[in-house]
Amino acid sequence: MLGNLTFDELVQKVADGNVDTVLVCMADMQGRLMGKRYQAHNFVTHSYKETHCCNYLLATDLEMATPDGFDATSWQSGYGDYVMQPDLDTLRMLPWLEGTAMVLCDVLDHHGHVVTHSPRAMLKKQIARLKALGFDAMMATELEFFLFEKSFDEIRKSGFKNLEPISGYNQDYHIFQTTKEEGIMRPIRNHLANAGVPIENSKGEAEAGQEELNIRYSEAMSCADHHIIAKQAVKDIAWQQGHAASFLPKWHQGRVGSAAHVHQSLWVDGKPAFYDENDPLGMSDVMRHYMAGLIRYAADYTVFLAPYINSYKRFAKGSFAPTKAVWSVDNRTAAFRLCGSHSAGIRVECRVGGSDLNPYVALAAQLAAGIKGLEDKLELAPPTLGDLYEADSQDEVPRTLRAATEALRHSTMLKEAMGEEVVKHYVRAAEWEQEEFDRVVTDWEIARGFERS
Ligand code: ADP
Repeated sequence: MLGNLTFDELVQKVADGNVDTVLVCMADMQGRLMGKRYQAHNFVTHSYKETHCCNYLLATDLEMATPDGFDATSWQSGYGDYVMQPDLDTLRMLPWLEGTAMVLCDVLDHHGHVVTHSPRAMLKKQIARLKALGFDAMMATELEFFLFEKSFDEIRKSGFKNLEPISGYNQDYHIFQTTKEEGIMRPIRNHLANAGVPIENSKGEAEAGQEELNIRYSEAMSCADHHIIAKQAVKDIAWQQGHAASFLPKWHQGRVGSAAHVHQSLWVDGKPAFYDENDPLGMSDVMRHYMAGLIRYAADYTVFLAPYINSYKRFAKGSFAPTKAVWSVDNRTAAFRLCGSHSAGIRVECRVGGSDLNPYVALAAQLAAGIKGLEDKLELAPPTLGDLYEADSQDEVPRTLRAATEALRHSTMLKEAMGEEVVKHYVRAAEWEQEEFDRVVTDWEIARGFERS
């Protein structure tokens, strides 16, 4: 079960008057919850089988534009509907919203076919491919974000100027500073735990106002569900208390960025398949092949880990965000960090992703690369040592959205794994993001050149 509430339990709660609202949601291309707030009685009697949404929801951008160039939908085709089919297995209460439950939906077309570029379908496909090889993926995403003194609405009305994080200093692991933030963080942890999201901890991160929320690893689909529900809770609960919580990867060039590191391991019949007690580091051949795939195809899938212009501002020397697609043992300067060596908890942490990633497509893309490594029995190069920002490696993580888009456009691996039309769809989304940016005159160029050019 992906949620923690059965349909019968929901029906009972509605009858008892404990639930009056059901959020019927899907994950969009940006990894956001999109959907409708149902009157609970209507949901349990009628709408639990399906509802509908405009198909532009999976062909838009952060600002809900209607870009041209998507094959899936357009003004030309009239922007019709998709079917949102509730996956009742995902039902849960959202305890931070009064009397409210939620369900996640699969997205289908009018013929009942799965919409292949819908994020949950993309992840399902890679989970099934991995299962066919005999493996389950256990994954965890770490959520980093910033809390600000003011609310989103106040900040927007003041033109996103003079942003003040909620604390005054680097609060990495600080207990005192995070005591001051418990009014927000404690309800986040507790409400999420009660919603069936297995919270491990929260901690202060390495910048003023920066937080990290850690969720216990779980099967890949649960992991992605947990991520977007947790992100929703963070924003909702901060908003309820008059604060903004931002997952923008780099809100200021002088501040540390926010990541979403992805921990991953493969299992067979409930036993870790990455562990070999006879190996000097405890790595099995399965792990070596999987990691070799992750590394070989890092450029191909970077768009799925860094989808926007701002995502690339994180990748900077000395920032704990990686610039080289190499691996190392417990080394936070590597894109791929071996964690838990010499133990059954052995896993790889991919450090490329920013806090703005969509977990479904990010996990799907990494599984696709790992599967390719397994299928082709790719050899893993030896680990790279030391400060990897200085590493003598040509394997750079793409440093711009433009470069990452080209890598995706030419990725035979991802076309084979996900389908040509899916890759084409996400290439178009990335192109659009770039086009939108390219037409904007930024504050930086005005200040630089207005007088001096
Ligand atoms: P660190 O502090 O080194 O980043 P943690 O012990 O906090 O490591 O774990 C980070 C994340 O890794 C947590 O979300 C945890 O649940 C997850 N994790 C632990 N073991 C595994 C595993 N075998 N496979 C995937 N993820 C795991």
